[in-house]
Amino acid sequence: MSTETSNKIIIAIDGHASCGKSTLAKGLARELNYIYITSGAMYRAVTLYLLDNGIDYTDLQAVKKSLKKIHVTFKYNPTSFNADTYLNGIKVESRIRDKEVSDHVSPVSTIKSVRTFLVKQQHALGKNKGITMDGRDIGTVVFPNAELKIFLTASTTVRAERRFKELKENGMERSFEEVLQNVTERDHIDSTRSVSPLKQAKDAVVIDNSNLSRDEQLAMVLALARKRIKRSEK
Ligand code: C5P
Repeated sequence: MSTETSNKIIIAIDGHASCGKSTLAKGLARELNYIYITSGAMYRAVTLYLLDNGIDYTDLQAVKKSLKKIHVTFKYNPTSFNADTYLNGIKVESRIRDKEVSDHVSPVSTIKSVRTFLVKQQHALGKNKGITMDGRDIGTVVFPNAELKIFLTASTTVRAERRFKELKENGMERSFEEVLQNVTERDHIDSTRSVSPLKQAKDAVVIDNSNLSRDEQLAMVLALARKRIKRSEK
């Protein structure tokens, strides 16, 4: 673990589905001794609650009412540096990756009340800085003043292949075509929704990681982060 004592900054990582945003955010947090939050887990946890409780998410009033009963929290595993997601006190880290949740999370994420509810919590998590957060609107809406913004992308096929491999390694059987379709659909919904669509912040550093290894990407962004930390000390 790093013992850096320098000023803390906010690192916002946005980009398309399955392009390694959370792996990068987690790696940076480990190196800088920062908090790491994958905001997609929060949208997934809300989606899981709605599905589990049979709430029709096209009924916006019912969704708004449900939000009062939803508490999403994270618990850190200091060994793996994983931030496990809890929904109303129950660990849902695995369930939020289920196909059903993946299929419904993007439509749920278009709902304004859901976004307002979660963005408020994201602001609170970042109030002391020293955080790397990944998502779709982190550099544009959640932390528009983040000292470092990264916009990650990779070809759709490369992303679907990575996701397919990851799901297989975690024992979740899904065909490659299903994974490709889910990634493509989520990108489409995320980029075209009216509230906080996925888009590049003007001041984001864009990285296409189709041909980069995880370590290469981490080293590249870590170097940028250290420069921004130095700059923020002046
Ligand atoms: O990052 P992940 O793929 O787990 O996110 C799941 C879904 O949550 C995305 O496809 C998107 O619809 C939604 N999301 C969002 N805004 C964020 C993070 C995730 O709309 N900041």
